[in-house]
Amino acid sequence: MEIPLRQYWRLLVRYLKPQWPMALGLSVLLLSSIALQLVNPQLMRRFLDTAQAGGDAQVLLTTAALFLAVAVVHQVVSVAAIYVSENVAWTATNALRADVADHCLRLDLSFHNVHSPGEMIERLDGDVTALSNFFSQFVVRVLGNGLLLVGILALLTREDWRVGLTVSLFAVITVVALARLRNIAVPHWAAERQASAELFGFLEERLGGTEDIRANGAEAYVMRKFYRLMRTLLSRSLKAGLMVNILLNTMFVLFALGTAAAFGVGAWLFYAQVLTIGTVYIVFHYTNMLEQPIQQITRQLQDLQKAGAGIVRVEELLATQSRLQEAEGSVRLPRGPLAVQLEDVSFGYKEDGNSGNGQVVLRDVSFCLAPGSVLGLLGRTGSGKTTLTRLLFRFYDPDTGSIRLSGVGAGDAQFVDIRRAPLAELRQRVGMVTQSIQLFHASVRENLTFFDDRIPDERIVEVIESVGLGAWYGSLPQGLDTELESGGGGLSAGEAQLLAFARVFLQDPGLVILDEASSRLDPATEALIERAVDRLVADRTAIVIAHRLGTVQRADEIMILSEGHIVEFGSRVTLARNPDSHFHGLLEKGLQEVLA
Ligand code: ATP
Ligand code: MG
Repeated sequence: MEIPLRQYWRLLVRYLKPQWPMALGLSVLLLSSIALQLVNPQLMRRFLDTAQAGGDAQVLLTTAALFLAVAVVHQVVSVAAIYVSENVAWTATNALRADVADHCLRLDLSFHNVHSPGEMIERLDGDVTALSNFFSQFVVRVLGNGLLLVGILALLTREDWRVGLTVSLFAVITVVALARLRNIAVPHWAAERQASAELFGFLEERLGGTEDIRANGAEAYVMRKFYRLMRTLLSRSLKAGLMVNILLNTMFVLFALGTAAAFGVGAWLFYAQVLTIGTVYIVFHYTNMLEQPIQQITRQLQDLQKAGAGIVRVEELLATQSRLQEAEGSVRLPRGPLAVQLEDVSFGYKEDGNSGNGQVVLRDVSFCLAPGSVLGLLGRTGSGKTTLTRLLFRFYDPDTGSIRLSGVGAGDAQFVDIRRAPLAELRQRVGMVTQSIQLFHASVRENLTFFDDRIPDERIVEVIESVGLGAWYGSLPQGLDTELESGGGGLSAGEAQLLAFARVFLQDPGLVILDEASSRLDPATEALIERAVDRLVADRTAIVIAHRLGTVQRADEIMILSEGHIVEFGSRVTLARNPDSHFHGLLEKGLQEVLA
C-alpha cells in the first residue's frame, strides 16, 4: 500500500488552516473523550473493592455519583466531538469541492469532451467525500486510539505484569489478524461499487433516451440489459457482504478468546490472592475496551487507503492545465459591430492529453468580414462549420494562424488577436446560438440573464416580446419567476430557439454566431424565427450556419466549406449570378437536398 504522505499533508494544511481553532477544539474533545473512557473502570473497581470489604456506604454513594457524572460528561463530549468534526469535515471538503468545480469549469472543451458528466460527478463528489473522514478525524483518531491502546495496556501492566503480558499478546495478534483480514473484503467492495456505477450509468442514459427507446420499440432489449446488470450487482453484493461477515465473525471469535484469556488469568491470580475482585473486574473491562481502539485504528488505515485513491485523482484533476491560456492585461474589444479576420487558421481536435495529432478539421482558413455584414456559412455535414464557430468563441485555440477582431472604421493595426482579450470580455462581445439549446432548471429570468441580476425585469420582458414570445410569456403562471424544466422539457423546439435568441439580445454582442437548427418547424414558428433573426443580425456582424434558403438569402457574403477548407467565398449576389460557382449550383439543386 502506497501512502502519498506529502500530498496528504499539503491538503490537510491547506484546508484545515483557515479553521484551525475548530480543528484544535476538535482535537481537545477527542482526546478528552479518550481519557474519560479510561477513568470509569477505575471508579468501578473502587466501588467493587469497597463494597466487598464492607466499606463505608458514603464512599460507595460518592463513587457511584462520580461514575454517573463521568459517564454523562463522556457522552456530552462525544456528541460535541461528532458535531464539531462533521463541521470541520464539511467545511474543508466543501472548500475542496468548490476549488475542483471551479477548476473544471475553466478547463477547455477538449477536457470535457473526454470526461462524461457521470465521471465528473464521481470525481467532484465521490472522491472528495471519501476524503471527509480523513480531514476531520484521521490524525486525531489514529493518534488518540494509539494512546488509548497504550494507556489500557500500561494500566493493566501496572495491576500485574502477567495480566499486562497476556493482554498485550492478545492485542498484537488481533491487530495483525485484522490488518490482514480487512483487505479480503476490499476488492469485493470495489467490484460491487463498479457494478452499481454501471447500473446507474445505464439507468441515466436510458432514462434520458426514453423517447427514442419507445419510438424504436427497444423496451424489451433495455429491460433485458437492466436485469443483467441487476443480477451482476446482486451476486457481487452477496459476495462482498459474505466477506464482511467473515471478517466480523473472526473478530467476534478473537475477542471472545481474548476475554476468556483475561478471565482465565484474572481467576488464577484472584485465587492466588494476588488480585482483588475489583481488579479482576478492571482486567475484564479494559480487555473489552480494547476492541474499540483496535477496530478504529484498522478502520482508519482502511479509510486512508480509500482517501489515497481520492487524493491522487483530485490532485491529478487540479494539475490538469487548460489549453487556453487566459490573457494577461486587459485588452478591451471595441463596442458595436465587430470586424472578423482569420488568417491561415488550421485546427484539429486532439485526443485527451497532449500533442496526439487528431485529424485536421480546418485547413488554412483565411477570410475577412466587414463589421455589420452577414456571412452565410454552407457546407456538407462534417465539413467543419461548427468547429469554425467554436474557434471564434475560443472553446479551442487554432493550431496555427490567428483570429482577430476589431471595430467599425478601424485600420489593420487595431485588430485584436482574440488570444489577447480576456475570455470573459470575448464571450461578452461574441454571442452564440447553438443547434441544441441548453436550458437550466431555473426561473425564466435566470435562464435568460444567466444569473446576472443587474438586468432589469422590464428589459427582459421587452426582449421576450420583441422575439415574438409575448403570448407564451403571457401564459406563464408566475411570469419571469416560472421555473423551467432542465433540458427545455415543456417547451417546443421553436420556443427554445426563440429563448436562445432572447438571451443573445440581452447580452448585446458585436458578433453573433447562429448555428441554425436543421429541424423543421411549423410555418408560424418559422416566421417568428425569421423575424427574430432579422432583428438579431441588424447592427451586428453575423455568421450564420444556414440550412434554409430563407436564411441564406439574408447573407451578404457566402462561404462554402468542404473538408475543412474554403472552396468558395464571395458576395452572395455575385456568386448567385455566376453560373460556374458552387453556390449557383447549390441554389439550382436546392439547398435542402445538398446540405441536410
Ligand atoms: P453539421 O452540418 O453536421 O453540423 P459541421 O460542418 O458543423 O457539421 P463539425 O461539427 O465542425 O461539422 O465537425 C467537423 C469534423 O470534426 C467532423 O469530422 C467531426 O467528426 C469532427 N468533430 C467535431 N466535433 C468534434 C469533437 N468535439 N472532438 C473530435 N472531433 C470532432
Ligand atoms: Mg454543426
